Amino acid sequence: MEKDRIMGGLLGVIVGDALGLPVQFIPRIERKKKPVTGMEGWGAFDMPPGSFSDDGSLTLCLAESIYEVGFNAEDAGKRFLRWYDEGYWTPAGYAYDIGSATMSAMENMKDGVPALEAGPKTEYDNGNGSLMRILPAVFYLAAEDPAVIAKGIWEMSSITHGHPRACSACYIYALLGRELLDGLRPLEAYRALCSLPEEILQFGIANEEKKHFGRILDGKLEHLGEREIWSGGYVVDTLEAAMWCLLNSDNFASTVLTAVNLGYDTDTAAAVAGGLAGIVYGMSGIPAQWIEVLAKRDEILSLADSFSEKLIQRS
Ligand SMILES: [Mg+2]
Repeated sequence: MEKDRIMGGLLGVIVGDALGLPVQFIPRIERKKKPVTGMEGWGAFDMPPGSFSDDGSLTLCLAESIYEVGFNAEDAGKRFLRWYDEGYWTPAGYAYDIGSATMSAMENMKDGVPALEAGPKTEYDNGNGSLMRILPAVFYLAAEDPAVIAKGIWEMSSITHGHPRACSACYIYALLGRELLDGLRPLEAYRALCSLPEEILQFGIANEEKKHFGRILDGKLEHLGEREIWSGGYVVDTLEAAMWCLLNSDNFASTVLTAVNLGYDTDTAAAVAGGLAGIVYGMSGIPAQWIEVLAKRDEILSLADSFSEKLIQRS
């Protein structure tokens, strides 16, 4: 594993989140009139440029947990709860942009429910709130057998999102991330994902859920028109949108800005796309001025450095 790719993935999530946050919830038609071209700040949560939200904070909590104690859902859940209660790993000292399933999970953990059981599991709990923060687990598990990857990814998703669809989406993201970490270009990695034997997909994609991922797994996602790509909060839409942006771009900035300019759930679409693009183009491929302005920049860089060093030593 290359350090630049791991650091690029983590920073890619944070930068994508920060680029999309100011225009969150605004329809696509408004972005057509006034596309986002860089770090703007203010807007949706009235935060200064470089501010990230739940996507970035929970990704940092998970990376820190894995760095400090290894792969442990209970520990990760405790750090998520510190984010929720105390504003841990937030730009301004308090948590904001909290999704409904994540909020239920936090309240469940406060009531003593174990982390692995905390995430709600109904079909209506399939928002993108576990996909947006799963990348540190993808890095940790990348060298493992697919059955081990599937188990670990489902556990880490279930802390906030326990329905098989949200978990399956995270598994597909992990399989694609693994190909990208190996150095494949976006289209090659996507082809590799779609060529995986059925038994590998089955480890982490529930049988009854497979039909929901048809547009991804049929190998033609990149050919869909922009009007066919949805960018709301539904986990399948976010995964499709992020992958579509990756496949139709040839650098980091274009990937994440395409995601932001799809409108609606802009911070999470760009965070999920930014994680993938960061692996492909590395931290060196992220515009320096976007990293420069990040809230908690030095702490983030320090954690990303320690996290990636540890994973490289382990591999
Ligand atoms: Mg957010």
